[in-house]
Amino acid sequence: MLKLEQMKEVVLLKKITKSSRDYAQENLEQLYHEFDSSQQGLTSKQAAARLQHFGANTIQKSKKQSQLRQFLKNFTSLMAILLWVSGLVAILTNTLELGIAIWCVNLINGCFSYYQQHEAQKATDSMLAMLPVFTQVYRDGKLQQVNAKEIVPGDVFSVQAGDSIPVDARLLTAATFQVDESALTGESVPESKDVAYEPGEGQFAESNMIYAGTAAVSGGATALVIATGMHTEFGKIAALTHQQKKSISPLQLELNRLTKQLSIIAFSIGIVFFVAALLFVHYAPAKAFIFALGLVVAFIPEGLLPTVTLSLAQGVKRMAKNHALVKELNSIETLGETTVICSDKTGTLTQNQMTINHVWTLEHDYQVSGQGYRVNGQITLAGKKVDFKQANDLGKLLLTATLDNDTKLEINTQDQGKNKLIGTPTEGALCVLVNKAGIEIQKLQKEFPRLKEFPFDSRRKRMTTVHQGNDQKYLVLVKGALSDLLPKCNTVLLNGKTTALGKEQITKINSANKNFAAQGLRSLGFAYKEIPAEKTKAANLKMESAEEQLTFLGLTAMTDPPRPEAYQAVKSCHQAHIKIIMVTGDSPLTAKSIAKKIGITGENPRVVTGDELNKMSDDELKIALSGEIIFARVAPEQKYRIVSTLQKRGEIVASTGDGVNDAPALKKADIGVAMGKMGTDVAKDAADIILTDDNFASIVAAIEEGRAVYSNIQKFLLYILNSNVPEAIPSVLFLFSRGAIPLPLTVMQILTVDLGTDMLPALGLGSERAEPNVMQQPPRTRGAHLLQRSIIWKAFGWYGLVASAISALAYFFVNVQNGWPQKLLAASGPVYKEATTMTLAAIVFCQIAAVMNCRTQKESVFRIGLFSNRQILSGIFFEVILLSVLIYTPILQSAFHTAAIDWQEWLLLVIIPIPLFLIEELRKMLSRKVFKQS
Ligand code: ATP
Repeated sequence: MLKLEQMKEVVLLKKITKSSRDYAQENLEQLYHEFDSSQQGLTSKQAAARLQHFGANTIQKSKKQSQLRQFLKNFTSLMAILLWVSGLVAILTNTLELGIAIWCVNLINGCFSYYQQHEAQKATDSMLAMLPVFTQVYRDGKLQQVNAKEIVPGDVFSVQAGDSIPVDARLLTAATFQVDESALTGESVPESKDVAYEPGEGQFAESNMIYAGTAAVSGGATALVIATGMHTEFGKIAALTHQQKKSISPLQLELNRLTKQLSIIAFSIGIVFFVAALLFVHYAPAKAFIFALGLVVAFIPEGLLPTVTLSLAQGVKRMAKNHALVKELNSIETLGETTVICSDKTGTLTQNQMTINHVWTLEHDYQVSGQGYRVNGQITLAGKKVDFKQANDLGKLLLTATLDNDTKLEINTQDQGKNKLIGTPTEGALCVLVNKAGIEIQKLQKEFPRLKEFPFDSRRKRMTTVHQGNDQKYLVLVKGALSDLLPKCNTVLLNGKTTALGKEQITKINSANKNFAAQGLRSLGFAYKEIPAEKTKAANLKMESAEEQLTFLGLTAMTDPPRPEAYQAVKSCHQAHIKIIMVTGDSPLTAKSIAKKIGITGENPRVVTGDELNKMSDDELKIALSGEIIFARVAPEQKYRIVSTLQKRGEIVASTGDGVNDAPALKKADIGVAMGKMGTDVAKDAADIILTDDNFASIVAAIEEGRAVYSNIQKFLLYILNSNVPEAIPSVLFLFSRGAIPLPLTVMQILTVDLGTDMLPALGLGSERAEPNVMQQPPRTRGAHLLQRSIIWKAFGWYGLVASAISALAYFFVNVQNGWPQKLLAASGPVYKEATTMTLAAIVFCQIAAVMNCRTQKESVFRIGLFSNRQILSGIFFEVILLSVLIYTPILQSAFHTAAIDWQEWLLLVIIPIPLFLIEELRKMLSRKVFKQS
């Protein structure tokens, strides 16, 4: 059967070749015919067959070419070219083994760098794959949620404000529908789209077509899919431009700067040693070149860039486990710098699990708790009979709650506890309330069919629906924030009569509302009116006229408890000197009550409403932002101003958001944080980070991770700089003794440490967990250099000198055992080889201590667990294995100038790290004590 469908699709595939402009102008019936579809969309069978033919609706950027280029880049860097040339010089000057070894090292190093970059890329790619986009598609006549990858030509789908548009499609219906096409056209002003064809100017201008890669920003529509995946206009553009947009982060700039600086130092040292080798030990120029080269290589931190990338990627993976998906590696460093978090309240700081516990009208405060209310077939609420038909405040309020509602309650008849809500928690709470009261929602929806709607908008803060009422009347039902709703009311329903809304009643309503808000409850106002049906057609009803002269009905008050994790997360932020500013659409009193409860502010924070914010000058806002402040009843657009003013004050701002209108603030913020569960596609697209659990605590965990990653990079830097001194000192001894002390560490051995043994454990430092005190320090200042003075001092003046002394001792130890100083120091032969092997091995074992020491900056390694980082332990294990292979494999012995060493020497080596580690632990302990006292 599927075969037959597939054959039909082959024929169809051949027909679908027109341009989108042709499809825009075509007669709709003809279009349905061409796509073998209808208003009801496709059947699942048709869709399955088409999916096989047309393929998944994905954009594949051809990466092959750029992958090859990326791979080759690792062999053409300055450092790599230097090694290729040096290898060649070595071969031409009769040191074939050295030449081959240098080339091999270069090859391994290049492959390794590529692997690191590849892993990092994989980590970010997999983050994006964790964010499937779903679309509502008509299949078998029913609206179903389908992964956007599975959409096929001929499908009919529905799209709402905030959804991204995954395909090219022709509009079938549209209601105040606007699309952001900036990704295609660069034009940031949203385009209005409608079903009627108007050509417009330029590409993508057809008024009745929507395109993949764009997003709906207001209203809603249904559309017929005409192209998917690489056949869409967006796909065609993507196929032309393989390049992925890449921005250079401050960290990358800093690393580039650092690498350049260290390279200059390395070359200068190289030149000095080259000249010294010519003058002091009379080396031939080629030999002196190779000799100097070893030092140049030692001082260039070639592994730095890829390892940093890898450690950022590891950070990304860890963050994903903690519910924060990072879209770009670069965001991690910014996270670590964050000084202010602007956070929504609802759902981020609170649980978004709303339960109504008061239904308040001017007649009565119904305390709603516990059980269902249908008594003897009658609908009741808190003991009161509910009447929808008569002019009854409670009845009309519940009617509004039921019908002016887009959330669906799927009732599980076996277990009411398993009822499912599809929609928003605020409306969900209303569904639960009316269900408790025994109202049959669907029955009521049929009795009063919806004719028109003015959807909820966080600017208007209300939602209105128009229904066919009884007696040739339309029923206009409105719900929303009281502050915006009450001014639209001129009457009130009291004792079954519509009465003028007087001052006294307004005071009563406001004080009830205030009372709920002060308890941290979230209130919602309800109003309605009836209008004669013959006056205007419902379809022509304008929003302004529908939402005026309303009759006030009452309020509902719902709890939305703070998330339990929020308390600790807020405390951590305060310890970490990160300021939290609540920016919410909810009322000032509710916001203040919750902020105080969670500990974001003290007793008396300043609360600024959206209206007040509008009146504030930039300077006033700047000053206000320096103190404890909450923003309430603000529109999402106002967040942009708050974020940018904070930035002008020099703050690094993380800002949360979920709606379409949050997008500008999310883009403006240094770190835009979108909500993965409740957020729109537009918000997710604009953000740098997406929280899979919508939880404030996850932002704080991500900041902690960001700080940890940065400090891991510093640890890594300290570690690789460490070995530079013991790699250089032997050459200094050799040169300045004019050869009396034969070279204790040969060029090949320097390369071994620098490019071989050093690298393995270093990678483990990238996966080190955050130190316990990382959130007890202020954020790092922007522009602070990665390579701090303390690191240079520690690497060169302390660890480096100690390691040099120990490796020199190891070298002389072998010589003393073989009769030095009575006998001259051997410049070749087995004793010399054994001595240089000991220098090399001593450096390796010093580095074992160093890697353990670098794991923490101040904390004791015992506290974080001596064996807690398996990657470091396996790195050390492989490092020792590699060393042993170099020492005991005959072919390698001659290339690397090594010789077997005996067990006493091994014993000596194994002991080396212990005192080094303990001394450093002592130093850390003392510094902790001093730090505590100061
Ligand atoms: P936050 O900005 O912290 O997420 P919020 O959910 O209160 O808080 P908005 O979603 O902008 O912010 O809502 C603003 C106000 O609009 C709410 O306080 C509520 O009074 C009202 N409101 C929310 N949802 C609806 C809805 N579905 N219908 C009508 N009014 C609503």
